[in-house]
Amino acid sequence: MTRQPAPPVPRAAAPDDPSPGHITRSWPRASALLTITPLLRYAVARHAVPPGTVCRTGCDACGAPIGPHRPWPALGPTARCGGCGARVGAPPATVELAALAALAALLLTRPPAVEVAAAGWWLAFAVPLIFIDVAVHRLPNRLTWPAAVGTWLLLGLAALTGAGATPWLRAVAAGLGLALFFATTTLLLGTRGFGIGDAKLALSAGALLGWYGWSVPVLGLLLALTLSGLVALGLLVSRRARWSSHLPFGPYLVLGTLGALLLVW
Ligand SMILES: [Zn+2]
Repeated sequence: MTRQPAPPVPRAAAPDDPSPGHITRSWPRASALLTITPLLRYAVARHAVPPGTVCRTGCDACGAPIGPHRPWPALGPTARCGGCGARVGAPPATVELAALAALAALLLTRPPAVEVAAAGWWLAFAVPLIFIDVAVHRLPNRLTWPAAVGTWLLLGLAALTGAGATPWLRAVAAGLGLALFFATTTLLLGTRGFGIGDAKLALSAGALLGWYGWSVPVLGLLLALTLSGLVALGLLVSRRARWSSHLPFGPYLVLGTLGALLLVW
């Protein structure tokens, strides 16, 4: 893929511009992000339920309804039910910090706008999926499928608006290839392999990475495996997990993908 060097834009700050002006200009985006974190929290609270259970629609303790139409305070940073004060969904402030970290990753680099849109779309699903996988060891279809479809479509838009067909075809092939790899481990190793939810998440993660070259999905996978291996080792040494323990892989797949993207952007 060839990319024309961007012409100098006098008023916009460079991505690594440490001047106070750049930080000030980032604030509207950061505060705009905090208006969508209730939606991310809603996705976590709704889907972090055991398999075969209906999605959560209210507080576990008092049944007070939870929804985007009435986000505060249950879907705010405090994560407390407005009716009884019980914890709702992901721990306090965690989703907000993860969303801010994701936004910072997008702001610190400067890929073309459509590619940022594809990554932003993917992160809007990947961030809740991290919390859901940690809580209940699931990556629900209702989040993995839209993540894949939207990522593929937005990368398709990037292909149509200048990048050409080659990176898109490579992205689709990488998404399918990575998903097939995860699915094969499930078939061969059963519960000791990756989950089928990981395979569905790989459809989008692999596509985002494959857009930038064949080596990038390999890099993302290696980062994810290394990170999960180190955490598993730490848990074993500290006796907080056993060899037979099943650790969720979704969070590492997301972090490995983001890490590899930051290296190529
Ligand atoms: Zn309650």
